[in-house]
This record gives sequence, C-alpha cells and structure tokens, in this order.
Amino acid sequence: MATNRTFTMIKPEAVAKGYTGKIIDMIIGAGYQIKAMKLKSLSKTEAGEFYAVHAERPFYGELVDYMSGGPIVAMILEKDNAVEDFRTLIGATDPAEAAEGTIRKAYATSKGENAVHGSDSDENAAIESAFHFSAEEIVG
Ligand code: UDP
Ligand code: MG
Repeated sequence: MATNRTFTMIKPEAVAKGYTGKIIDMIIGAGYQIKAMKLKSLSKTEAGEFYAVHAERPFYGELVDYMSGGPIVAMILEKDNAVEDFRTLIGATDPAEAAEGTIRKAYATSKGENAVHGSDSDENAAIESAFHFSAEEIVG
C-alpha cells in the first residue's frame, strides 16, 4: 500500500553551489510538507552504508567519495503519493535525460553529481528515513 512519505537528500555539490533554498522552494511548491530536516556531513562509512545496494556497481567508490565530500541536507517529505510524485519531480538520474521543470534538469551537474536523492519505494523511504532521523526528530 502506498504511504504518504518519502526521503530526500540535497547532495553535496548542490549544497555547495548554493541551491539548497531553490530546491526546497521547488519541493514545497510541488505540495510537499517537510516533516524532518537536517544539514549534516556523511562519513565514508555512512555514505557506503546508505548506498550499500549499489556496492557491486562500478560507480560505487566514486559515489561514496562524492556523498561524503561535503554536507548534505536530509529531509522527510509528506504528500499524497509521495514516493512516485517525488521521482517525477526530480527527473531522470542523468540530467541530460531529465524532463524540463524537474529539479535535476535545473540543478544537476552530471549523472553522478545529480543534485538530489529520492527514495524509489515506500519500503526504502522508511528505511532511509530511519537511517537519518530518530523518531523525536520527525514532527507529527
Ligand atoms: N550514479 C552514478 N552513475 C550511474 C548511476 C548512478 O554515479 O551510472 C549515482 C548517482 O548519484 C545516482 C546514485 O548513484 O543518483 C544512485 O543511483 P540510482 O540508479 O539509484 O539513481 P537514482 O535513484 O538516484 O535516480
Ligand atoms: Mg535510486
């Protein structure tokens, strides 16, 4: 059954380029409510654990170095059909393939440095939210 929450991170290059506010504005403009939010740096161990599903992929080492290379903004977002609609809002993994009006089309640099993360299922949204936030850090 679909839930109404997803998890996102604004990735290090987008934070470093000053896009945090603009990306949050697009997220709120799309109808999401922020239920939890924090700015933090991921250690290599944390980045490796978060992306463990990609451990066998050729880009894994680069991805872990990139995601631990500067602060990220993690958020839990709420809206009807949150996971699927957020994937539409962020656009394709490779910004060259991302549709007009998407966050990645506007702010991503490359397929690796692509501005934002978005959960790909309700199950992963719950796992990823719990990875970054304790229950008392989430508003009701
Ligand atoms: N990635 C990459 N090269 C690739 C595919 C993915 O560097 O060929 C990175 C990119 O940062 C991407 C992340 O690994 O966002 C996770 O990959 P996934 O296929 O889950 O893409 P997403 O769900 O983020 O669109
Ligand atoms: Mg993914």
